[in-house]
Amino acid sequence: MRRRAFLKNASLAALASPLASSGPSVLCRAAEGKRIAFGGMHIECSSYSHILTHMEDFRVLRGQQLADDSFFSMLKKYPYPFQPLLHARAVPGPPVERKTYNDLQDEFLARLRALLPLDGLYLPMHGAMYVEGMWDADGDWIAAAREVVGKDCLITASFDLHGSLSRRAVNNLDMLSAYRTAPHIDVEETTRRACDMLVHCLDEHIRPTMVWAPIPVLMPGERSSTRYEPAHRLWAQLPAMNADPGVLDASLLVGYVWADEPRATASAVLTGTNPEVLKKDALSLAQQYWDARKEFKFGVPTGNLAECIERAERLTTKPVVISDSGDNPTGGGNGDRAQVLAELLRRKVQNALIAGIADRPATEACYKAGVRATLPLRIGGSLDPVGNPPVNATGKVIFLAGTDNPLERQAVMETAGVTVVLTARRRPFHQIQRDFTSLELDPTTFKILVVKAGYLEPEIAKIANPNLMALTDGAVNQDIEHLSSQHRVPTYPFVPDLQWKPMTVVSARSPQGG
Ligand SMILES: [Zn+2]
Repeated sequence: MRRRAFLKNASLAALASPLASSGPSVLCRAAEGKRIAFGGMHIECSSYSHILTHMEDFRVLRGQQLADDSFFSMLKKYPYPFQPLLHARAVPGPPVERKTYNDLQDEFLARLRALLPLDGLYLPMHGAMYVEGMWDADGDWIAAAREVVGKDCLITASFDLHGSLSRRAVNNLDMLSAYRTAPHIDVEETTRRACDMLVHCLDEHIRPTMVWAPIPVLMPGERSSTRYEPAHRLWAQLPAMNADPGVLDASLLVGYVWADEPRATASAVLTGTNPEVLKKDALSLAQQYWDARKEFKFGVPTGNLAECIERAERLTTKPVVISDSGDNPTGGGNGDRAQVLAELLRRKVQNALIAGIADRPATEACYKAGVRATLPLRIGGSLDPVGNPPVNATGKVIFLAGTDNPLERQAVMETAGVTVVLTARRRPFHQIQRDFTSLELDPTTFKILVVKAGYLEPEIAKIANPNLMALTDGAVNQDIEHLSSQHRVPTYPFVPDLQWKPMTVVSARSPQGG
């Protein structure tokens, strides 16, 4: 396969095309012959959370708003119009409420039906969605889309590298690309790989082969960041594999460990035109991943909460960034736990910043009291009270974010030498300007910065001096060996002495499948 050539041509054509910066109406007139639509649902859910993700937690984009969104406006560069359907995305978190899922899916499918017939469909998914009372929600979404578009339409998908596949998902897809980096710095590139492949196959009338090798290993993202070994070397070989004749795309997925369901495993997935090469590469990746399973380690020093705070106090550098990893909202944690605040207050630690704790009642109380007011606050456990005791403290309000949206409210308060950002909704703190400077906070001036995160995103990693990962409680507890595991297939490390040999599944959609 002329993989390099077609990618180069596609990119050059896109750059040279007068359509690249044109609006969609021009695109619709100019491009004829291929009809492509896109949309999907993007969330990662911990089945260990006791609460649910509701409609108000999703950012739902439709129609032109979706076409113009910064994630997807790049699709306008293709020679064919990508017609927007609906895309629902939320911060990773608890399982999705069944009604919310059903309502979003019904609307998505209705919009899909209205655009038939289609030659191609692009599904930008996460791959670790968990819906209450349902296993394999991503597979359900993909299979329902297939039923609507029919057998002649090619479906491509992009997945987060923490997504998990299933036979149902594989049997209804023609091709798939997953992120190759964690932290995820190749989101746009992954979209491009998934869509280049779709457009190429439509142009060349190719019905590709997709080969999947499930790998019964589950690791938290914090032990499988591609910044560290063994993940670094495992993922580093994918671009070269991609360049092989007969390969259109090669992906390796860690899967998602905090979902107790049968499909939760790691995966190697290859799409292309030469089934033998695809199987060989999938088996090789799967075997290498299996062989490396005992090498996956945390990339930064870890300890329990008390150990991390003690160590931070002894260090003469700042800011020491402590990751409250069990309650990380970007991994599926609730983000409402006050366990670190309790420990900092108990130890009378000074000059610490906690960013942040999701607590709408406490946030509202600060807004009601106003800046410079001092008030009694009950912080923590507002979303999931199970095993999550609140902290009672007297706080002084020092900053209130100006916003018309009550869900976007953020209050900065100070109590006994500890500064806390309270937020009305669950949210991460990853970016200096967006998340700190906008609240008139300079995180580098604090001795200790606490973030609800696992591995650090690039901007926080850059200021961490150093980073310590606290192995705290929460819905994404890093002590995975002790997670209850009732529904998984036998998987390492839940079955420490598991015996296994790799095997491949060819998608039923492939010319050789079915
Ligand atoms: Zn991810």
